Amino acid sequence: MIAAPFDYKRANTLDEALSLLAQNEDAKILAGGHSLIPAMKLRLMQPPLLIDIGRIKDLSYIREENGQIRIGAATTHYQIESSELLKNICPLLPECASHIGDVQVRNKGTIGGSVAHSDPGGDWPAAIIALNAELVAVSKNGERTIKADDFFVDLLTTALEPGEILREIRVNKTTCGPAQAYVKMHHPASGFAVVGVAANLSLSGHANCERASIGITGVSAKAYRASAVESALNGAALNQETIANAAAHAADGVDLNGDLFASADYRRHLAEVYTKRAIEAALERA
Ligand SMILES: Cc1cc2nc3c(=O)[nH]c(=O)nc-3n(C[C@H](O)[C@H](O)[C@H](O)COP(=O)(O)OP(=O)(O)OC[C@H]3O[C@@H](n4cnc5c(N)ncnc54)[C@H](O)[C@@H]3O)c2cc1C
Repeated sequence: MIAAPFDYKRANTLDEALSLLAQNEDAKILAGGHSLIPAMKLRLMQPPLLIDIGRIKDLSYIREENGQIRIGAATTHYQIESSELLKNICPLLPECASHIGDVQVRNKGTIGGSVAHSDPGGDWPAAIIALNAELVAVSKNGERTIKADDFFVDLLTTALEPGEILREIRVNKTTCGPAQAYVKMHHPASGFAVVGVAANLSLSGHANCERASIGITGVSAKAYRASAVESALNGAALNQETIANAAAHAADGVDLNGDLFASADYRRHLAEVYTKRAIEAALERA
């Protein structure tokens, strides 16, 4: 299908984008366009105006600053996948990026667009939660920081308010455990996550878990923290039995998605299997 008619404005600076957004409350931000344009073509969205932020240089960067990893919202999946800095200090991020779509999607799609879209099968939200990231939103009224746990509100819904643009994603280096992994069952047609699990573990000794942080996507309307798995892992000696027992709680308290490809029961099973795999893969890399 063809999108409904719309206007298009390219912003050259973040300030310009914020002004345009403040003047046009029904406008949508356009980043990589790889979720927004398909939704417009299906007429699921019909914004009267697109404000293109894709070429604002100040929104595209990966840097280390004040003990934090800082990633501009318009940084592409490929830039993250290929970042040597991230491979060294937070390999979960490049690993997660490598699972997204295909080369074209990774070259155009952005981390900010993905988390702002909050697709139930999107990969980034799982990693963002497992890394306890902070998301910096900016509007004409100023700036605020939102914790990952508060950011993903519901299906395609985030804590961003009208008039706000996501500017940056921050990860404290101290929250990056040495044992990290992202594992995913790709949907065979779309490539999105039927289930995706990000594990970020701090260890003492060889395999004693000091702190576990587990994010899961694909299983329900929004990505979530697997708190019961974390509680079962924290302070435990990680062996096959403790890992399997912890992973059995991967979908506790979650309202499970079910569709033609994967029923709710199958998704629960996948969540458990892939959580176990994510923890084991993280341990192998520590
Ligand atoms: C064929 C295909 C396969 C894909 N496979 C996967 C996959 O396997 N895994 C996966 O996770 N994703 C997948 N995607 C989605 C892809 O990752 C998108 O790039 C991503 O979801 C959206 O990023 P974008 O930059 O393209 O955002 P856009 O499409 O430009 O925007 C998406 C939404 O976010 C808003 N937005 C964008 N940037 C900001 C911002 N900075 N602040 C506030 N709001 C903003 C827009 O207004 C819009 O509502 C796939 C897409 C396609 C087309």
